[in-house]
Amino acid sequence: MVGAHVGPDHPLDAAADIGADCVQIFLSDPQGWERPPPRDDASQLRSSPVPVYVHAPYLINVCSPRNNVRYGSRKILQQTCEAAADVGARAVIVHGGHADDDVAEGVGRWVRTLQMLESAVPVFIENTAGGTNAVARRFDALARLWEGVSSTDTSFEVGFCFDTCHAHAAGEELSAAVERVLSIVGRIALLHANDSRDPPGTGADRHANLGQGKIGPETLSAMIGSAGPPVVVETPGGVDELRTDIDFVRAALAG
Ligand SMILES: [Zn+2]
Repeated sequence: MVGAHVGPDHPLDAAADIGADCVQIFLSDPQGWERPPPRDDASQLRSSPVPVYVHAPYLINVCSPRNNVRYGSRKILQQTCEAAADVGARAVIVHGGHADDDVAEGVGRWVRTLQMLESAVPVFIENTAGGTNAVARRFDALARLWEGVSSTDTSFEVGFCFDTCHAHAAGEELSAAVERVLSIVGRIALLHANDSRDPPGTGADRHANLGQGKIGPETLSAMIGSAGPPVVVETPGGVDELRTDIDFVRAALAG
């Protein structure tokens, strides 16, 4: 299953246009704190054979030592999970976030968040490109996060979403990155296949079309092949660019 992040307006039409098996969308402003509004096409999305993934807003940082940021983050994550259930989403993807003060504190705040969260859909935590004391940027921190996550009882699945651009931006060595991540989290629930406009380790989160950025086509193909499906590309451009990126992923999966 290979798809792309698409605009929120007509995701199923967009999927057909680009030949995607699945799509990822935002349900609210990715840079805002507003509750996701109800969608007129909720029942269509629910009954569609095309799986829909929901990306939570970027501002969410459940690890923040600042109470207002943490409480606001938990609130909109909860609201996003409810809105995602309304459209029958396959999962909600949320960035791991950063603690500012201390990774261990950040892990504890994630555990508390998961204990409080109620979700009818799985929640996938994604590795991030940057952030001070980020809990899912460098793999050593991810290992600590996953220890906390795995020992937390939830009524919903908590999975890991691996973003290739973010691992590159984090400065992780990419040749065995998928294997190292798998040894930590057990399973990659969703791969975000993105190239990067920036050199490794910069912390910059600027996605590029696959094979056109600084990761290198061979490394990127190998990562996609090792991770396997489902895969979503979050790359720039229109129909042609996304089609080309989806083809790149399918070729990489075919080995
Ligand atoms: Zn991503």
